[in-house]
Amino acid sequence: MNIRKGIVTRFHSNTLELMDLENGEKITAFLRGKFKLQKITPIVGDYIEYSIENNTAKIENILPRKNLLYRPKIANVDQTILVTCLKSPKVDYLTIDKFLIQVEKNNLDCIIVLNKVDLLEKNEIKNFLDIYSPLYPVVLTSAKKNIGIEKIKPYLKNKISTFAGMSGVGKSSLLNAINPGLKLKVGEISEKSQRGKHTTTYTELLKFDFGGFVADTPGFAAFDVYKFKPDELQNYFVELKEHSIYCGFNDCVHINEPHCAVKEAVENNEISEIRYRNYLKIYNEIEEFTKKTRRKR
Ligand code: GDP
Ligand code: ZN
Repeated sequence: MNIRKGIVTRFHSNTLELMDLENGEKITAFLRGKFKLQKITPIVGDYIEYSIENNTAKIENILPRKNLLYRPKIANVDQTILVTCLKSPKVDYLTIDKFLIQVEKNNLDCIIVLNKVDLLEKNEIKNFLDIYSPLYPVVLTSAKKNIGIEKIKPYLKNKISTFAGMSGVGKSSLLNAINPGLKLKVGEISEKSQRGKHTTTYTELLKFDFGGFVADTPGFAAFDVYKFKPDELQNYFVELKEHSIYCGFNDCVHINEPHCAVKEAVENNEISEIRYRNYLKIYNEIEEFTKKTRRKR
């Protein structure tokens, strides 16, 4: 039997589509009963081994998953490209931080893309870079004016990525600029997650012509942070986590405690005050949300 390697790229009602990893050929395969018995089913992003007999492809084996993301449901994601902009629509830093928290919670690499720089003054870009470029790679782009597109490609090459960010920031436009063959409609990437719970939409992995895959459904939603516990929040602010080891108390949450290395770092401008204030805001929002949902029960 000739066993080949592939990756699951999408689902249909009782078949799935996979792509051969060597020659890029698209193949339709049937789900075999044995996976149902083992209570594992392949999902989009799974690396699998398959065989072809009598012109039908069969999945023989699901290779171990590196991780499993729930929004969108997809395996083996390497990184999130967090796309944002400061005008049209105005996305505030609080929203960006809510996305970053989820990226960290899921232990993913992250590249921030500040799109629509054609609408910005130099000092607006500088303020953004001052906050985020010490924490994550930041790429400045304009999908409209074709600025910075080449700088994103090396990050995407041969990886599985999800694009995250508010609706309207330019995710679909950027993907088209990066790989015109994808031919996405304006808003296509954002719309997929907004079709509501009642219609079943499946995520599909799209292949870049230079190598690598991207999910056609956006990753994460800003409001999902309310599921977290307030005390775990600090773990998902990379610079807070870094300084917190020097705090006087092991369980310091960097709010009212004395000898707090995080608060000191904010005073010394080693931690951005905007980021610290967003930490406090989200901490309080989570507490409020938890109280409200408890009362309802
Ligand atoms: P998505 O919802 O994140 O997928 O965003 P879209 O790609 O659909 O873009 C939303 C709108 O922003 C569209 O009208 C685009 O033409 C526009 N847009 C996208 N990128 C840019 C950019 O770099 N500059 C400007 N000025 N407009 C852009
Ligand atoms: Zn502290």
